[in-house]
Amino acid sequence: MTSSDKEACIDPVKYDLNSHFKFKCHKDISCFTKCCRGINIILTPYDIIRLKNCLDLSSEEFLAIYTTPQILEKTDLPVVTLKLLDDELTSCPFVRDEGCLVYKDRPTTCRYYPLGVTTLSHQEGSDGKDFYFFVKEPHCQGFEEEKEWTIKEWRHDQGVDIHDEINAEWTGFLVRKRSFPVNIKLTEKSKEMFFMASYNIDKFKKFIFESSFLTKYKLDEKMIEKIKSDEIELLKFALEWLKFVFYQTGKKFQAEQK
Ligand code: SF4
Ligand code: SF4
Repeated sequence: MTSSDKEACIDPVKYDLNSHFKFKCHKDISCFTKCCRGINIILTPYDIIRLKNCLDLSSEEFLAIYTTPQILEKTDLPVVTLKLLDDELTSCPFVRDEGCLVYKDRPTTCRYYPLGVTTLSHQEGSDGKDFYFFVKEPHCQGFEEEKEWTIKEWRHDQGVDIHDEINAEWTGFLVRKRSFPVNIKLTEKSKEMFFMASYNIDKFKKFIFESSFLTKYKLDEKMIEKIKSDEIELLKFALEWLKFVFYQTGKKFQAEQK
């Protein structure tokens, strides 16, 4: 996870998929769950789908209970972070003595930790290129362990690959927007559309199926069935729609417009 802890040290070295490191996190380590407090976790669209389903909530309910809206620095785009508890340690709402309540559906950033990736943070010097870096916090004892990994192996072990694959269009959006001149501002309507398509998948579904959308844009029947029954397909569709709205790409919508 991305720590906002003032003492956290961001290792300035840029790592790639084949870089090696030593690390192990386990239940018997003295610092177990210490990293789940005082943190800043940007949630991705796929994180929201996994978490709201894990907790049996609608996306609207999950957003209201567990997230804090923010404008992502350098992009002017609205994102959400996990809302921390108002306790002494500003703990994650899902942390317990025995571990993470939502472990199998934990957010992308938690899976990466102690690694960070530039697409989900704002490391200076990324020059638009993705790289990995380590967040080294004084309390984290995992670096003292002997288990060795490549970054590729770590990502696979933590199940990051599927998250990155599904979020790829979205993170690409952030990277692209970050490279825009600062004086180009989004309209409130565009920001609302970005937020809904990114995070509020249930509301986006209503936007498609309970508005005039399908009378304005003729979609393939198979596509309609797919996005009706599969949230991941719906999310991919939502991100395609965003590309069309923001950048007039996604020719599918242009070509099929009545
Ligand atoms: S080893 Fe690091 S990542 Fe694991 S519980 Fe301790 S602080 Fe968290
Ligand atoms: S979601 Fe789980 S892993 Fe992530 S900070 Fe919360 S308790 Fe820790």
